[in-house]
Amino acid sequence: MKQGNLTVHTENIFPIIKKFLYSDHEIFLRELISNAVDATQKLKTYSSSEDFEGDLGDLTIKVSIDSKKNTLTISDRGIGMTEEEVDKYINQIAFSSAEEFVQKYADKKDAAAIIGHFGLGFYSAFMVADNVELQTKSYRKGSEAVHWSCVGTTTFEMEKGSRKKRGTEVILHINEDSKEFLETARIENMLKKYCSFMPVEIEFDGKKINNTEPLWLKKPAGLKDEDYIAFYKELYPYAEDPLFWIHLNVDYPFNLTGILYFPKATNYMEPQKNKIQLYSNQVFVTDEVKEIVPEFLTLLHGIIDSPDIPLNVSRSYLQADHNVKKISSYIVKKVSDKLADIFKENREDFEKKWDDIGFFIKYGMLTDEKFAEKAMDFSLVKNVDNKYFTFNEYSEKIKPLQTDKTDHQVWLYANDAQQQHGFIDAAKKKSYDILIFNNPIDNHFIQLIESKIEKLSVKRVDADTLDKLIDKDEKIGSVLNSEEETSLKETFESIAGKEKYSVKLESLSPEDAPVMITQSEWMRRMKEMSRMNGMGNMDSLPGGYDLILNTNHKLSKKIADAKGDEEAKKLSGYLFDLARLSQNLLSGQDLTDFVSKSIENLG
Ligand code: ADP
Repeated sequence: MKQGNLTVHTENIFPIIKKFLYSDHEIFLRELISNAVDATQKLKTYSSSEDFEGDLGDLTIKVSIDSKKNTLTISDRGIGMTEEEVDKYINQIAFSSAEEFVQKYADKKDAAAIIGHFGLGFYSAFMVADNVELQTKSYRKGSEAVHWSCVGTTTFEMEKGSRKKRGTEVILHINEDSKEFLETARIENMLKKYCSFMPVEIEFDGKKINNTEPLWLKKPAGLKDEDYIAFYKELYPYAEDPLFWIHLNVDYPFNLTGILYFPKATNYMEPQKNKIQLYSNQVFVTDEVKEIVPEFLTLLHGIIDSPDIPLNVSRSYLQADHNVKKISSYIVKKVSDKLADIFKENREDFEKKWDDIGFFIKYGMLTDEKFAEKAMDFSLVKNVDNKYFTFNEYSEKIKPLQTDKTDHQVWLYANDAQQQHGFIDAAKKKSYDILIFNNPIDNHFIQLIESKIEKLSVKRVDADTLDKLIDKDEKIGSVLNSEEETSLKETFESIAGKEKYSVKLESLSPEDAPVMITQSEWMRRMKEMSRMNGMGNMDSLPGGYDLILNTNHKLSKKIADAKGDEEAKKLSGYLFDLARLSQNLLSGQDLTDFVSKSIENLG
């Protein structure tokens, strides 16, 4: 038997490993199985060498629990190790990398964050085990089996082992605090999480755990839609079918494979993030890809597999990493190319999907300058008649009629076609077109397109009278004289209240509504945005609503002539209620009174 001291200077290295890795204990299994996979892969390479003896045989990696002995065992049929190799790789190299880790990160605050990404390797076993044993036998001709054990101090024992077959068995004597790792369900979950797509077969309790040839590694040419959908279901069993996907495959200047899926949008306000899984050579690393892909891409689902993403460094470093930046812009380019392709090749399909992918595209345009540039060509707007247009198409369509005296084109929109029906109707009578912007993100999106498209104003259809929204300087005169106008204005001011509404006279067409309520585009946007950004309610701010009186409507003349008598008050009160009704501003006592008044009038 050989005994020895591990070449290490930090006497208390094990307590430190345990303490540091506390938050991410379970990665020990990933590390040990990765080693087993590596050893098996190497065997396949070496099997043609002279040293190799016998057959490859069944190469399945087996994981098992012995609840009587409190052990968890990982056994492989890989290359195994000779005594010299155990000495070199386990006693010296592996240990020194563990020590280096501890020294490097001992006083860093973000140690917890980097921990899962540092290949602590073999020694991570000591996070959960007091005693770790190795039974190993090298693939080389005439090798002797070796038994190694270490009880979590800096001394180890090495002697002749009992293993008959080539390969390695790592036996963890699970410690008191880590009993959870003796539970079948816990281990199965961990295996599913970290090992689902590892390249060598893994069995636990006789059950096969992994798919050794995941879809993303296959050639896209040979794959059908069903294959992609089936794989998506494998990843997210409860999700609806994805809308489409992008198969990533690069080998220069970095290595990257993967599949990104566009999910069916279910909830705009709480998009499901953290659904992309990051792999390194088929080993699950993390599902927090925030620093690796731009934020809007985290709305996508799927897999990114790259050995070129440095996983053993801190997150802040990752953001500045050259490779990561390249990978990130590559993915953005791929995603925008794919969207542009679908748009070009199958416009109809793209339009059908717009309601689901629109949020993603808008979010991307708002947060990523490069993406915004590309998406200007395929981003769509939808009008109240459910027709879709690109920005250019829409400009061309509406310019002849909807250009104002300052040569600005005016895009009109509604956010609720039912509620703003009256305004839409009036605009349509003038042959104006009305878009639908009804997503919470649209306030920001509207500002973005106003900044991207020259001489464009976007206004909600109820923000003012149509003559003002698209001011063409085609004023018609008022039929009322100034005395009548004052009388009309005063009557309405006394009814509506000057503090709440600023009453304005407009000489509109006699066919336009006699009274209407508008809310200035600017004020409404400001209020909506502050509400969205959680800056409190600004509804109490004055100046929001205008009460517009059409001096050319015949009822206006009637009210003006009555000079504030009972009849005039009754009539104007009723018109005011109707205007509020069509802006959804009539409620409570006022609504009840309106209903009884209307019934009375019928009698
Ligand atoms: P790393 O895997 O990053 O090299 P580890 O600490 O996990 O670091 O392992 C150190 C070395 O020990 C490995 O490089 C390998 O040579 C050897 N080793 C570990 N596990 C096995 C195994 N199951 N079979 C054969 N060799 C192994």
